[in-house]
Amino acid sequence: MFSYKERSTILNTLNHYTFDVLVIGGGITGAGIALDAASRGLSVALVDMQDFAAGTSSRSTKLIHGGLRYLKQFELGLVAEVGREREIVYENAVHVTKPEWMLLPLYKEGTLGKFTTRAALTLYDRLARVRPEERRKMLNKKQTLQKVPILKEDGLIGAGYYVEYKTDDARLTMEVIKKAIEFKAVCINYARVTSFEYKKKKVVAANVRDEISGIHITIHAHQIVNATGPWVDDVRKMDQVHNNKQVRHTKGIHLVFDQSKLPLEQAIYFDTEDGRMVFAIPRDGKTYVGTTDTFYDDDPIQPVASEEDVAYLLNAIRFIFPKLSITENDIESSWAGIRPLIFEKGKNPSEISRKDEIWSSPSGLLTIAGGKLTGYRQMAETIVDVIIKKHKFKHAQKSNTKFLPLSGAKGLNSVNFHDYVANKAKEGEQLGITYQEAKQLVEKYGTNVVDVFHFIRNGNESNLPKPLYAELLYSIYYEMAMTPCDFFIRRTGYLYFDMELVQNYKEAVIEVMSTIIGYSESEKIFYQMQLEQFIDDATR
Ligand code: FAD
Repeated sequence: MFSYKERSTILNTLNHYTFDVLVIGGGITGAGIALDAASRGLSVALVDMQDFAAGTSSRSTKLIHGGLRYLKQFELGLVAEVGREREIVYENAVHVTKPEWMLLPLYKEGTLGKFTTRAALTLYDRLARVRPEERRKMLNKKQTLQKVPILKEDGLIGAGYYVEYKTDDARLTMEVIKKAIEFKAVCINYARVTSFEYKKKKVVAANVRDEISGIHITIHAHQIVNATGPWVDDVRKMDQVHNNKQVRHTKGIHLVFDQSKLPLEQAIYFDTEDGRMVFAIPRDGKTYVGTTDTFYDDDPIQPVASEEDVAYLLNAIRFIFPKLSITENDIESSWAGIRPLIFEKGKNPSEISRKDEIWSSPSGLLTIAGGKLTGYRQMAETIVDVIIKKHKFKHAQKSNTKFLPLSGAKGLNSVNFHDYVANKAKEGEQLGITYQEAKQLVEKYGTNVVDVFHFIRNGNESNLPKPLYAELLYSIYYEMAMTPCDFFIRRTGYLYFDMELVQNYKEAVIEVMSTIIGYSESEKIFYQMQLEQFIDDATR
């Protein structure tokens, strides 16, 4: 049940059933909780007031990482935990996670020396239980420049070389939600929790407005979980009794350049002049650079890169790649995200811990915040353990998500994925698309590519290229994409990594969505304007 067509059935089910767990928030945290709970046999509902992953979970650096930076802050437990989780996420979702060798350039005057870096990376390998073929290497100056010829040479003494994992945060979230749905979780986007209902001072239901139809429903649940990321305090304010813990928001932005402007074939993690660290990562013919970390007190709904943010990252790029003459005219796209961090008095943004925390209000509402994309599975397991213990749910089993492939990953693993991609891509070629196009689809959708191919086989009633048309239909029928932004941002990432494609096909995409979903004239205009606004925010 995850097509646009099923919205009214889903709303009806949500309105008439008492669930074991209602999760508010369809970012990676809420998605993970829905999957853990549903796979243990609990009945689960999940609602998001926007699209799934429209909050921070489509706006991160898109790394499943072992948290090397936490080593600098001596958060050894966190390094060990996220390092191990990284491995689990990879094995359970090989189609959305990919190992990426990361270069850590070292300079005479830099914050990291060769000796400390070697020691730190060795410790990191141990703590994160890094697999042998991915353990750290140390490079000399010549080897470093061979990998990244555009690096600043002055003072360069070599580099550390280690593995991180690249992902697509929003697609990862979708695959988690789709897996939860396989276990009968009932999930819907554009459904906003507006207030709570109580019995004997305990929260027993949430009132929800469907933002698409305007219908109001009430969802009853034994346990309501607030997993609303940057909005957790807003939701807690709706709760009758709330305690005084606070989430502090910090903003991080990323800039995207064409490879012809920022030619990088190797991901790097480098020191900025002010002692922070920034990633530059090649992806699909582009290079993206980020992130910043500044306190943010505005509305988290649609953060954008400010002039200062852009200037900061451009400076960082010029500092590490002085041979390039990058200007703001070279920026193709950008995004900004808000970190929901647990408030710590007197600390600057980069010093605040990325640890997650769970707290319970006297009404029984459970809130979870902080944390990382990388640690989503462990966070989910922990909070569902709390829920099961609290409610003594007899029908609940132990969590098995460590060994549970996500949607699109059934039967796949790091060993056989390469062959699977090659075989399926050959199959795709028979449908009249190129091997390369088919390969990209298999790499993105994993075993679900079968359903994407189905839409290629069925013929194309638009003037969109065949693969794009198939992706669009898949997103509408299998991933509840309701708007052009859902498709171009959360289902495909094209708005960040292929702006030219978005500009070329935005009208045709809106036409197809309008015909299938049945937008009214005013809805169509609204979605058109919304997409233009996002394009403007990403490119201005
Ligand atoms: P969100 O993704 O924001 O989800 C919360 C959801 O709740 C939203 O979709 C929102 O619409 C919904 N919601 C809010 N109020 C309501 C309501 N009333 N009713 C219904 N729904 C509601 N982590 C990593 O592991 N690797 C990285 O590389 C990384 N890079 C990052 C870079 C940046 C710049 C930032 C900001 C974060 C980064 N993180 C990274 C951290 C990671 O992205 C976040 O920890 C994670 O995405 C938070 O997910 P979430 O589900 O808690 O919040």
